Amino acid sequence: MSIESIGAVDQLRRHLSGPRQRGEVIGLVPTMGALHEGHGSLVDRARAECDFVVVSIFVNPTQFGPDEDLELYPRSLADDFIFCEARKVDAIFAPSEEAMYPEPLHTLVEPGIEASRLCGASRPGHFKGVATIVLKFLNTVGPDRAYFGEKDFQQLRVVSQMVKDFDLPVEIVACPTHRENDGLAVASRNGYLSSEEREVAGILYRALRVARERIGDGEGDSEAALDAARTVIGLEPLARIDYIEVVDPVHLQPVEKVINPVRVVGAVWIGETRLIDNIFCDSPKKVLRRRKS
Ligand code: AMP
Repeated sequence: MSIESIGAVDQLRRHLSGPRQRGEVIGLVPTMGALHEGHGSLVDRARAECDFVVVSIFVNPTQFGPDEDLELYPRSLADDFIFCEARKVDAIFAPSEEAMYPEPLHTLVEPGIEASRLCGASRPGHFKGVATIVLKFLNTVGPDRAYFGEKDFQQLRVVSQMVKDFDLPVEIVACPTHRENDGLAVASRNGYLSSEEREVAGILYRALRVARERIGDGEGDSEAALDAARTVIGLEPLARIDYIEVVDPVHLQPVEKVINPVRVVGAVWIGETRLIDNIFCDSPKKVLRRRKS
């Protein structure tokens, strides 16, 4: 059976009533399209774990700031269909802007402290837009599971917290970051990089790994670990740090002394392109124990 493409909320609800009545496990992978292997890893996981897989494709205008790349953002719906067909997706939900926002919303989701810092500080209003559209998609699809990438770790935390706070009946599945050979996290915006910029774009991940090594070496002092990471990035003239921090992995608040597991999170500008990434760091004690055994 060929893949169904659906553009309207009521049409999607009707389409899903069959699988729902049959008791099938429904999985949702929300995306902004321009699908790549990073998205593919989420789709493959959903395909392996669910009976019916829906991929949503929607470039959500309310999560872009006035000076951001909404107009420029890559769109490739025809290729995305082929991509989804090859990965045996059951339905694509690709609504128009009018279908999602027939009139401006009066009610918006205001995320909490998970959204206030890091990308939330650099992109005011971004996570309000994200949380609101994700809530609309969860309400429309009613999935048993929804798949999100750890690459956008703050988004994953904002969504998970919203699901918890609002008692939404869905399991949020966190999927590991899919990377290029040099460690660069695969992302739609990587296409903005010139070839010279692409050469150096792996620097963010290299810097995060340096911070992780320092923490693992028993460097409980976050600033010292971050200094080492900043030095790595500072050596590259094309790169400019937006932020780099050590945070707790739940509420994303800064951690000064690393005792428990943390995330090192960062955003850098490579020329005009802003890249984000993050890395898990186990507690120094556990790393040392692992290294000894
Ligand atoms: P986007 O289309 O960029 O909004 O991403 C849609 C979903 O795919 C989000 O949950 C992202 O975190 C996830 N995603 C994007 N790139 C990657 C990647 N390289 N590895 C894993 N997940 C990713």
